[in-house]
Amino acid sequence: MAAEQMVAEYIAEAFGTYSRRRSVPEVRVCFYPFVRLNNTIWLRNSIVRVRISDILADAPADVLRALSFILVADLYRRRAAKRLIRLFEDYVECEEVVVAIARIRRERERLTTGSHQGEVYNLKQIFARLNRQYFGGGLRQPRLSWSRRRRLDLLGWYDQELDEIVISRLLDEHQVPGYAMDYVLYHEMLHLRHPMQIVNGRCHYHTPAFRQDEMKFDRYEDALKALLQLR
Ligand SMILES: [Zn+2]
Repeated sequence: MAAEQMVAEYIAEAFGTYSRRRSVPEVRVCFYPFVRLNNTIWLRNSIVRVRISDILADAPADVLRALSFILVADLYRRRAAKRLIRLFEDYVECEEVVVAIARIRRERERLTTGSHQGEVYNLKQIFARLNRQYFGGGLRQPRLSWSRRRRLDLLGWYDQELDEIVISRLLDEHQVPGYAMDYVLYHEMLHLRHPMQIVNGRCHYHTPAFRQDEMKFDRYEDALKALLQLR
C-alpha cells in the first residue's frame, strides 16, 4: 500500500479516537520535501490536509500510525498517548533520520551562493521593482540568491523550507534581456503569492490561478522566447 494511503487510514482511525464528529472528514495526505521534520495537519471545509516530511516516507507503519495520532490529537488540542509519542520520538531521533535531515539541508544549501548581488543583475533590486509593479509592494521578501551552477534545466526555484528564491546564474549575463530575467523572478514570486495546494493527495504548485497571474507579466511571450534561446 502506498504510504499516503496508509497514513490516510491511520488519520481516519485517529479521528475516531479524538473527535466527536460522527463522520470522518475526507483525508488528503501528501509527502513533502521538507528540509526538517515538519509535519502539519489542518481541517477546513470538512477536508483534512496532512503534509508529512518525505524523510518519513519509508518509516515503519507503526511510526506513521503514531504520527497520525499525534497530529489528530494536536488538531483537537489533546495529547496522544505517551506510548505513541515515545514511539515516534525514538524513531526520529535515531541516527539514520538525523543524518538524513542534515544531509538534505546541506545538499539544498550547496545549490546556492547565498548572495543576491550578481555580476549584471541584483536580485534584491529586481524583487523590489517587481513587487511594486505587480504586487502593490505587498509581497514579503524571502532570501534571494544566485545558484552556484549555471543551470539550464532549472532557471529558478523557491525553496519553501529555506525560505529562499534561487535564480540560475545562467541568467546573470549581459546577453540575457532584463525582461527575461524579470520574468523568471516574477514566476518565483508567484510561488509566494500562491502556496502549494494538495488535490487528491498530490501536490500542485502551478494552479490555474497561478497560471492566470503568470500571464499578467508585461512581456510574457517575449520573455518565454528569450528564455528558449538560452544555452
Ligand atoms: Zn514554478
